[in-house]
Amino acid sequence: MNDHYDVIIIGTGAGGGTLLHKLAPSGKRILVLERGGFIPREKDNWSSRANVMEEKYHAPEKWLDSNGKEFQPGTHYYVGGNTKFYGAALFRFRQQDFSEVKHKGGTSPAWPVSYDEFEPYYSEAEYLYQVHGERGSDPTEPWASKPYRRPPVSHEPRMQEVVDGFSKLGCKPFPVPLGILIDEQNPHSSKCIRCSTCDGFPCLVQAKADAQTICVEPALQYPNVTLLTNAYVERLETDAGGTVISKVIVQRNGTREEYSADIVVSSGGAINSAALLLRSANDAHPRGLANSSDQVGRNYMAHNNTILFTFSLTPNPTLFQKTMAINDFYFGDNDWAFPMGHISMVGKFDGPMFKAGAPPFVPVTVLNQMGKYSIDFWLTSEDLPDPNNRVTVNSNGRTVLHYKENNLEAHARLVAKVKHLIGQWQTGLHFEKSGKIPLGGAAHQCGTTRFGHDPKTSVLDINCKAHDLENLYVVDGGFFPSSNAVNPALTIMANALRVGDHLLERLGAASTTKAESRTCWHEDFLPEHLNAHLVGDLRPGSECPAARRNRRGPNWHDCFRYRPLARLLHARAPFQQAFRRRICR
Ligand SMILES: Cc1cc2nc3c(=O)[nH]c(=O)nc-3n(C[C@H](O)[C@H](O)[C@H](O)COP(=O)(O)OP(=O)(O)OC[C@H]3O[C@@H](n4cnc5c(N)ncnc54)[C@H](O)[C@@H]3O)c2cc1C
Ligand code: SF4
Repeated sequence: MNDHYDVIIIGTGAGGGTLLHKLAPSGKRILVLERGGFIPREKDNWSSRANVMEEKYHAPEKWLDSNGKEFQPGTHYYVGGNTKFYGAALFRFRQQDFSEVKHKGGTSPAWPVSYDEFEPYYSEAEYLYQVHGERGSDPTEPWASKPYRRPPVSHEPRMQEVVDGFSKLGCKPFPVPLGILIDEQNPHSSKCIRCSTCDGFPCLVQAKADAQTICVEPALQYPNVTLLTNAYVERLETDAGGTVISKVIVQRNGTREEYSADIVVSSGGAINSAALLLRSANDAHPRGLANSSDQVGRNYMAHNNTILFTFSLTPNPTLFQKTMAINDFYFGDNDWAFPMGHISMVGKFDGPMFKAGAPPFVPVTVLNQMGKYSIDFWLTSEDLPDPNNRVTVNSNGRTVLHYKENNLEAHARLVAKVKHLIGQWQTGLHFEKSGKIPLGGAAHQCGTTRFGHDPKTSVLDINCKAHDLENLYVVDGGFFPSSNAVNPALTIMANALRVGDHLLERLGAASTTKAESRTCWHEDFLPEHLNAHLVGDLRPGSECPAARRNRRGPNWHDCFRYRPLARLLHARAPFQQAFRRRICR
């Protein structure tokens, strides 16, 4: 077997899985190394007892805090990474998030790439992950060149009451952009059945738009793609000069294996990628790979997150609760000039989920009753990069996470603000209870290998290539210079697509996929684009992104004009290439 590849991708989550989707059609030989296996499809997928109380799917390892105390990280090692468990809230960062922003607790640094450069990739990622949403409903949303591919997910009656309650107080609640494969118009054929065990659970019916379902499985149909599961990347080795990754050392089913590639991409998640680079230290890189700046592992961020429950005498039979968000206080308020953050919902809580934070003597049956009445909010504020908040690897090779919370006043004000608002719209007897997510809740981990122009202050260049090495890239959440305050996955996905374009060009395979040089969007999405015409996704008023990006190429009028032809050609796949040449000229 030839163990040399064009590209090796380590990890199959939001970053690695999405990059694989981008590179797979290139024909280049790609090896994907994933430390986990496929999640078994079983009833426990949707059991809150198995998922939350028994932590059945959590990573089978413990990390250490600064005091050497073990804790269980809330992270998952499976094909699809943490997207198998995510709540699929797929937000774009705000345009201002890409610039320097002053907070009460310090400064959120500017990104080396502007929002406008990211925008085409946000559109591409939203399309790929089939995001449901409503443009124009979120008062802080950045400009977008494309409408959402799917309509917003509806609120269930109790959630509609919450939306109405906040609206009456002057807030502007909006539908959460969601990556779930739901068709509310045709529930009989919808993949998603709208259940209460989505956020924090794997989807038993494969209806979540996660990296496995959307990217990895389709990519495996290409003969040039090889996936090895249960393949733990232990170490990266360099050539004698220390400029190139020459070997990827893997432990698989108890055996040591070696692979090599022209390009090696680490996407093990912000914490695991940093740990991999640090434990790969050698004579040429004594502080760890890509670490001449001493920045690898530093500036770890994971958001200030709180779950806030309101309990009242009104039942909350909502199944899928994560449909509403509020960003009115994202950048501050009349009485507070600094950013506070983002208000959203968490998946519906029940007894076993409450049990994790409840006093041990309270039985699950009592907590189940509480779950029938609670409304469960998820509040996120930005934590700021601090070089002392860092990932290190101890002498036994174990991962140590050092983290001191910061920017807490902003978060406390956000929590107080929501409690106050709930107090105003909720009538009758009710009370609120909140709990901050502890160190192990590393769901939104980011920032350990930040990208930037200056090799002295950043680990990666703007293409997410290590400044110090010619063929090493990182495409997980580690590249974030700041955490901002909406969920991170869509930005990780968009960045993977952006880096993918760069890699295709580097590999000499860019001609058909590079975003900037596309004459039109059709090239990306055949046959999906034809489908878009067929199901009416491109409507009058929506603009073909090419028209905006390149100031040429067809707009929706042209697309619309070709709709009958698209319908015909959809049934006649062999003619699609000719059709593409015709309309994309
Ligand atoms: C319960 C939960 C809910 C969430 N909800 C949301 C949400 O609603 N919206 C949102 O935007 N984000 C959400 N997130 C966060 C989101 O899932 C992550 O931001 C995203 O998955 C991170 O992508 P990544 O590529 O950086 O890493 P991951 O998705 O974690 O992927 C890393 C992969 O690398 C593999 N790996 C690690 N180390 C190695 C190694 N040494 N060798 C081989 N393989 C390795 C892992 O097994 C894993 O498959 C949620 C997360 C959790 C846990
Ligand atoms: S809500 Fe839909 S996507 Fe989520 S777990 Fe349930 S069926 Fe799957």
